[in-house]
Amino acid sequence: MRDFQVAIVGAGVIGCAIARELAKYKIGVVVFEAGSDCFHDRRA
Ligand SMILES: Cc1cc2nc3c(=O)[nH]c(=O)nc-3n(C[C@H](O)[C@H](O)[C@H](O)COP(=O)(O)OP(=O)(O)OC[C@H]3O[C@@H](n4cnc5c(N)ncnc54)[C@H](O)[C@@H]3O)c2cc1C
Repeated sequence: MRDFQVAIVGAGVIGCAIARELAKYKIGVVVFEAGSDCFHDRRA
């Protein structure tokens, strides 16, 4: 299994934006999403 430095819970716009920024600096990041897709929004 790969090692990650940061775990983000939720692939909403904020989680994805942070993951993208961290990846720019080669920081290992994993994103966990409860929904079936990125930007999953049960409220809409
Ligand atoms: C009906 C509606 C319309 C909107 N329209 C606009 C608009 O026109 N313009 C605008 O700027 N903003 C709009 N907003 C607001 C905008 O959706 C939010 O400000 C924005 O989505 C917040 O982003 P976020 O990443 O913080 O959270 P979210 O987008 O809510 O993302 C959170 C993610 O985390 C996931 N998650 C939650 N709990 C867990 C868990 N335990 N484990 C794993 N994953 C989990 C969810 O499935 C979701 O994908 C609207 C909101 C609603 C409800």
